[in-house]
Amino acid sequence: MHSHRTKAMVHAINTSPVAPDRQEEKGRAAEEIFGRHVFGLPAMRKRLPREVYRKLVRIIREGDRLDPSIADVVASAMKDWAMELGATHYTHWFHPMTGLTAEKHDAFLTPTGDGQVISEFSGKMLISGEPDASSFPSGGIRSTFEARGYTAWDPSVPAFIIPQPYGATLHIPTYFYSYSGEALDRKIPLLRSVTALSRQALRILRLFGNTTAAFVRPNVGPEQEYFLVDSRLAALRPDLLLTGRTLLGAPSPKGQEMEDHYFGAIPGRVMSFMQDVEIEMLKLGIPVKTRHNEVAPGQFELAPVFEEANIACDHNMLCMNMMRHLAPRHGFICLLHEKPFAGVNGSGKHNNWSMSTDTGENLLSPGETPYDNARFLLFLAAVIKAVDEYSDLLRLAVATAGNDHRLGANEAPPAVVSMFLGDELNAVLEAIETDSPYAGAEKKTLKLGVDSLPRFTRDTTDRNRTSPFAFTGNKFEFRMVGSADSIACANIMINASVAEALRQFADDLEKAPDFDERLHSLIRETYIAHKRIIFNGNGYDDAWIKEATEQRGLLNLRTTADALPRLLEPKNVEMLTRHGIFSETELRSRYEIQLENYVRIVRIEALTMADMARKEILPAVSAFTADLAESAARKHAAGLDLACGYETKVIRKLSCLTDGADTAAEEVEKAVTALDALGDVTREANFVRDTVLPKMAALRAVCDEAETHTAAKYWPFPTYGDLLFGV
Ligand code: ADP
Ligand code: MG
Repeated sequence: MHSHRTKAMVHAINTSPVAPDRQEEKGRAAEEIFGRHVFGLPAMRKRLPREVYRKLVRIIREGDRLDPSIADVVASAMKDWAMELGATHYTHWFHPMTGLTAEKHDAFLTPTGDGQVISEFSGKMLISGEPDASSFPSGGIRSTFEARGYTAWDPSVPAFIIPQPYGATLHIPTYFYSYSGEALDRKIPLLRSVTALSRQALRILRLFGNTTAAFVRPNVGPEQEYFLVDSRLAALRPDLLLTGRTLLGAPSPKGQEMEDHYFGAIPGRVMSFMQDVEIEMLKLGIPVKTRHNEVAPGQFELAPVFEEANIACDHNMLCMNMMRHLAPRHGFICLLHEKPFAGVNGSGKHNNWSMSTDTGENLLSPGETPYDNARFLLFLAAVIKAVDEYSDLLRLAVATAGNDHRLGANEAPPAVVSMFLGDELNAVLEAIETDSPYAGAEKKTLKLGVDSLPRFTRDTTDRNRTSPFAFTGNKFEFRMVGSADSIACANIMINASVAEALRQFADDLEKAPDFDERLHSLIRETYIAHKRIIFNGNGYDDAWIKEATEQRGLLNLRTTADALPRLLEPKNVEMLTRHGIFSETELRSRYEIQLENYVRIVRIEALTMADMARKEILPAVSAFTADLAESAARKHAAGLDLACGYETKVIRKLSCLTDGADTAAEEVEKAVTALDALGDVTREANFVRDTVLPKMAALRAVCDEAETHTAAKYWPFPTYGDLLFGV
């Protein structure tokens, strides 16, 4: 093993940046390549008859119903465009509940009956598809005799092409639903939640006299964190290959304590990877903007400019696909897992969220006028109420086996949902609560709708990096989303719970005899009722968890098994069905699927770990101790009357540890057998939390200790130091 590992390590640190053939794009301004692989508005305007183009724009912008009569024309133009860019195939691209994306390619090919073929793509092929869906999770929605799933074109996200070595494939973003009409994906509920939010937000805007806004949209900017590991080193780690994280590994002497990686100079090979990804993303019309080193060694971030939620979600999926796909070209594997390494920071996906009107007004932007300020405070109050009342939905929306290692594990952010508003906003809300003078510039009692608020500066609000839900100037940053997860679930729950708060506000205000009066008291009452969710201190602190749960009554749903059952709480089912975001059947299916996923992931990890211990670690350590014993024996045989203290000590220590590891591996295997016998997903999830994971932790502890006593040349796996610093 040793020679493989050494060779790999040498190779890793000597790999120079691979330069893919980028002659065409090299050094080009973003605007020159942006959107080149997208059938967006500019391409449509150029290629579609005027009337068809206009209809399509209305469908895209205003959500008008798709008019099948234009489908053939659009399909034909889309095909011509794609074929000019080398496309030979098309696919309906969808988001099944695996959390990944799915595609099945078909050629633009129809036999003509005379031994020839022609390239064909009809409106029908564009609008709908019927992939054989029996192998996608449905959580019981599709009984096996009715396994059909359907895809339907989502015109709100532009179609795009993905180039492949011998031709490109046209990708058509689609919804995925069952024969009985239930959503089998995350896109449908996301769009439903956007509609619900828009409907309720417009009611509020009308009360403020706005008659022009036609809809309100959530905007999302997801910041994507990831790790890169040299692919030759990764090749020697079954855990990285099978589970995306290290299941074992003693800490490296150097971790992240020097704080020298964050925003440090980007290593050359990493830079070529980043540029490669960025060029592909720009061509796909994804506005990638920011790149930097993250806190942990080997950890990086990519952030696009925010976009409308549904598009941001699709683009983030594409971004993750692209990163995974392009990394090997640079000698890396890209780890999107939330916690690839114990002891250094994990990866998240800060979900920056705001809502704006179609006329471009950000409703979370503190305004310039008293009127704007009052409106801003009402929307802010709605978010406060939403996060407090539906903190469980926000928590469970980000619950995965991977993210459990991050949330609640003494790093950003904790599993307890709380909000951070910043000193200025807090002072304003407190002044409203107590009817006392606001201690800002003007020092007088605030009268909403009459008085101006001070202008908030971004600087004064974005100080708390430990808060799960932080106001950052004109948006909220939800920091609990896992790096590998789709952002759909999180945004569905944010949109839904804010829509519900706005609904209640609108019901109340529409009836109020004196709008200004009621507005003021409503904000005040909301703040008083929900201020327990606001916390401006250090979210990592144990004292906070105690205060949150014991004094404030906030939930601490530490694991996926704890969080998921909340999805079926009557108040949550009532709210989500009331707004038409999920049906009860859909909710139950999602409960099943998310828990099943959790159980399956941990099961794979448990088996991988036991395998690594049995097939690699135990034989390697055993070989080492045998060699030590032999060397001690040789010394004796040579008549050297030595105590052989080193050999004896290490042999004793390691023999204990190998016995321990053998027993611990057996325990893990037994736990998996017991898990398999349970047969009910809720019980399985609890068993994973209470038994399988603790047994895995015990096995890891002995293996990691054995690693620290075993000579490097015997240890079968690249170490934490190799993996973290070999980029
Ligand atoms: P940070 O300090 O968190 O890095 P940035 O200004 O870099 O903040 O923004 C992070 C993300 O937030 C980017 O994707 C950015 O486009 C997005 N963002 C900025 N303004 C908004 C907004 N109004 N709504 C949603 N996302 C936004
Ligand atoms: Mg941020």
